[in-house]
Amino acid sequence: MLINKIKELEAISRTLEPGAEDREQMLAILRDYSSEFLDDIETRKAFFEREDGGRALLDSPICDHPIDFNDILDLLRQNVADNGLNPASPGHVGYIPGGGIYPAALGDYLAAMMNSYASVFFASPGAVRIENMLLRWLINLVGYPQEASGNLSSGGSIANLSCIVTARDAHQLNAERIPSAVVYVTNQVHHSLQKALRIAGLAECQIRKIPMDNDFRMDTAALLKAIEADLAAGHYPWLLAASAGTTDTGSIDPLDELAGIAKEYGLWYHVDAAYGGFFLLLDSFRETFKGIEASDSLIIDPHKGLFMPYGLGVALVRNAKQLYNSHFYRADYMQDVILSEEELNPADLSPELSKHFRGLRMWLPLKLHGLKPFRAALEEKLYLTRYFYEELKNLDGFELGPYPQLTVTTFRYVPPHGDANRFNQMLIKAVHRDGRVFPTSTQINGKFVLRMAILAFRTHLYTVDLALQILQETAAELLKDW
Ligand SMILES: *Cc1c(COP(=O)(O)O)cnc(C)c1O
Repeated sequence: MLINKIKELEAISRTLEPGAEDREQMLAILRDYSSEFLDDIETRKAFFEREDGGRALLDSPICDHPIDFNDILDLLRQNVADNGLNPASPGHVGYIPGGGIYPAALGDYLAAMMNSYASVFFASPGAVRIENMLLRWLINLVGYPQEASGNLSSGGSIANLSCIVTARDAHQLNAERIPSAVVYVTNQVHHSLQKALRIAGLAECQIRKIPMDNDFRMDTAALLKAIEADLAAGHYPWLLAASAGTTDTGSIDPLDELAGIAKEYGLWYHVDAAYGGFFLLLDSFRETFKGIEASDSLIIDPHKGLFMPYGLGVALVRNAKQLYNSHFYRADYMQDVILSEEELNPADLSPELSKHFRGLRMWLPLKLHGLKPFRAALEEKLYLTRYFYEELKNLDGFELGPYPQLTVTTFRYVPPHGDANRFNQMLIKAVHRDGRVFPTSTQINGKFVLRMAILAFRTHLYTVDLALQILQETAAELLKDW
């Protein structure tokens, strides 16, 4: 009786394991879909404004009935692709793009297929070794000492959270001390830092927004003044969070000077290099980034400057012990786990236990291509940015922000009369409606400005010229009825 029931259920549950022929068929369908998606990606739109927003998906709820693999891909084709932002497009020049290189997708496929347990060394020494090797590569890249460690996270926000929690514990900020603890940032700091502070129970900390120079870099004299004032008032200067590439303007704070100040006053020094960090691969940036090696913690996003698909950030902490102290835990059901002298466990260095073997999507493309094309792509984006800036400067009516330090240009169109903010609001809407390129907008000193962020690996000269043409034509079009 029991045996019969088991066998009956086995027959059904075995449908979860497609045979060799079915697998081949699925891969063939997947291959076709990938080709369809990628073959014309260079000219595919970056933004699709659609009335229905893919609502047809709701007509196909999760239920007991299986549907055909082809039909499933049709659902994706019709409702997910070409709907909203297409971050794979070379025309994605908004926010901070990256693109998502193809071999990384194959790494994801392999990681999911093998389902390696990249959480503890004991369970998957190979997978953990790969992830730790990637971290050591980054530790060397930023110039941290060998006792540094880190974690591959799902993104920069989570990486920021890990660093903030580590900084909190390393400075023993208990409930009593939190209200007097002071955080120093500029108003260009990424919002994920403030979010991390709140999630980490530090919402009661005092936040000082330090003024910036004309290039949106933290003013060190103003910082010193603020720290001295806080000390005089009996507060506890705790955390200095600098940016190595702000999201709005790509500004890099004076990292070396800030390092000196942090050291002098005993502040935890955190650097957000989520966007800018991989420019360290270019020798020409070593000087600009000097001081990053003196930070206590930092974040860097492979899904930005290393062109990985979304879902890959990195937290690095100068002293591995501090990251470990804030994140490790043991439980009885993990008693078989042998602590290795050789490699740290990712599970001891992050809030996660079971996790995606996300290192494979980064390791595979780096092995496959070597570093050279990554360096070339980053350098290309820098020159494209400078080209965009110079060309736009020559167009009538456009007003530019500061000369780009990285690959973001801010600008706006100033109409001959009327409210410039309203004009630029209309301009960005019209450019999005067109959809071939997708710049975004922001507010800087009360001005509504547009920003062009060139970092997607697929963005080449063609797309930058196209963006210039679209901006010029759209502005001219809007002026007709202005
Ligand atoms: C993107 C970004 C973040 C947040 O990273 P996510 O990966 O989007 O979570 C933090 N800081 C800066 C400067 C960024 O550009």
